[in-house]
Amino acid sequence: MDFPDDLMHLIRTDEPLGPLAWLGIGGPARFYAEPINTGDVQRLVTVAAEQGLPVRILGGGSNILVRESGVDGLVISLAGSISSEIAIDGTEMTVGAGAKLSHAVIKSVGAGLGGLEHLVGIPGTVGGAVVGNASAGGRDIGSAVKSVNAIEKDGSTRTMTQQEAGFSHRKTSLVGLTVLDVTFALEARDVLALTKRMQKLWISRNASRPTEEPRIAMPFVDPDGMPAKDLLQTVGLAGIREGDVSLDGQHPQYLIAHSGATSDDCLRLIERVREQVLLQTGIGLQLNLQIW
Ligand SMILES: Cc1cc2nc3c(=O)[nH]c(=O)nc-3n(C[C@H](O)[C@H](O)[C@H](O)COP(=O)(O)OP(=O)(O)OC[C@H]3O[C@@H](n4cnc5c(N)ncnc54)[C@H](O)[C@@H]3O)c2cc1C
Repeated sequence: MDFPDDLMHLIRTDEPLGPLAWLGIGGPARFYAEPINTGDVQRLVTVAAEQGLPVRILGGGSNILVRESGVDGLVISLAGSISSEIAIDGTEMTVGAGAKLSHAVIKSVGAGLGGLEHLVGIPGTVGGAVVGNASAGGRDIGSAVKSVNAIEKDGSTRTMTQQEAGFSHRKTSLVGLTVLDVTFALEARDVLALTKRMQKLWISRNASRPTEEPRIAMPFVDPDGMPAKDLLQTVGLAGIREGDVSLDGQHPQYLIAHSGATSDDCLRLIERVREQVLLQTGIGLQLNLQIW
């Protein structure tokens, strides 16, 4: 794989991905870049496409499980490197994909704009949240999106409407594209009331999370009509362990990577849980976690 001279300063080889993922495990990226401007992101995507090199976009790393073999391709990190700017115009807010979702939520609430406050406490970037249509309390981020600016696989840029982005339950048609920024259409509301609502949600979200465990993930999508937490408790899988990975005993919707955990442990645990749930309930649990 040959990168043009003007991109070489951005490219690192065999970059460990474990430290960049919330689960803290997994192998290296064959090529890795943290571009600082949109033009470089576009060039990287184009060059990789021309040479048939697979590309993966990294946000905050809170929803990925990297295999032990790592990624045989180019990983482009957008977390904090390219635009994390947030601009407000009336009731619209445009946010760079690399911005933390928590910053966007706090900024919108502080400006008296409602529509994102229910997402408080979800880790990661705005890009990651929009691509995976992150949701909380039964409401997804896609419902507040007006448009999405993204790079196509061939390197061309495109602005998509909410409809074109295809938001459905924890899914979008943005997978495989590189989201650069997102414009939200929000509603003018009372700042104090919004702030109180956000604080209340923040407290209840923290109470339903294993706070002592730094290396966690939320592997499953809530199936229709029942939170994954309740389902896993009902079928007796809370606390189940495989090697050095377990589901939390109190909050089984979270997977915990203990000291010594490997990606293979995670994959084995996930498969065991899915098999058991299918066997006992007939429900096919969908994965939220992206396996790299
Ligand atoms: C403690 C905890 C709590 C969580 N709570 C929730 C919750 O309540 N609701 C919920 O929906 N999720 C939740 N999650 C899952 C996760 O935080 C979200 O899915 C989050 O939106 C992922 O964002 P990220 O930036 O970390 O994405 P990453 O993990 O970096 O990436 C996830 C996927 O998005 C893609 N991606 C990231 N950025 C871009 C971009 N700019 N362009 C194109 N593709 C991109 C990646 O390629 C990857 O496939 C939780 C996770 C944890 C660890």
